[in-house]
Parts: sequence; structure tokens; C-alpha cells
Amino acid sequence: MSQLTIAWALPLLIVAIVAYLIFRSRGGKRLTCTKCGYDLNENENGRCPECGATIAKPIGEVGRVTMEIRGTAIGEVKVNGRRWKAGQAAPMMPLTKGTKVRVVASKGMVLLVGPTKTGPGGRVRQG
Ligand SMILES: [Zn+2]
Repeated sequence: MSQLTIAWALPLLIVAIVAYLIFRSRGGKRLTCTKCGYDLNENENGRCPECGATIAKPIGEVGRVTMEIRGTAIGEVKVNGRRWKAGQAAPMMPLTKGTKVRVVASKGMVLLVGPTKTGPGGRVRQG
């Protein structure tokens, strides 16, 4: 009886540990509000729902354009699985959907982004 229990409990325990490790590695660094400590990992609008503080984004992070940024118009960029409103730091050519961009600065709830340098002239390969 007890041996049967162990035979079942051991694989279940291993599965639980693996699931926990996957969950932990996926979450990476937990993003919390610097003002009130609220969990902001599901947050998508760049503002803390608890205290209303604007969430600062570490400069230099790389994200992908999810809604085209054309000239000075606001588009959308996904950084670490979260969507942000984004404008171009130096509006030139449109940043099309899927383009990798680097966060240059943040201005309120809007991130200012620029193309990641992939070669001479800072050209971006689209894909
Ligand atoms: Zn807060």
C-alpha cells in the first residue's frame, strides 16, 4: 500500500518540480510597481492599476513592433511580453510590424524606440 503511494508520489513530485522551474524561468524577473509593489506582469497599459504610477521601462531593452510606427505617429511595441505605446526617437522610415527595436527613452506611458543596430547605418532587417 505505502509502496504504491510512493510509486505514484515520486513521479508527481518530479513533474511538480519541473513545472515550477519552467514557470520560474518563464517569469524571469518579476516586474513590480516601484511605488506600491503591485505585480505588474500582466499589465499592458504602462500604468499601475493600484496606485496609478507610470511604469518605468529599463532603457536599452529590446522589443518587437506589434503595430506599425509611422513617422511621428504612435504605434505599439511588445517588450517582455507586454505591449506598450511607442513612438520613434528619431522619426525617419516607418517601423513595420515585427521589426526589432531598442527602447531609447520613456516619456510618460510612451516608449521612445529606435531600430536595433544590425549593421552599418543602423539598418534593420525586417522579418
Ligand atoms: Zn503601484
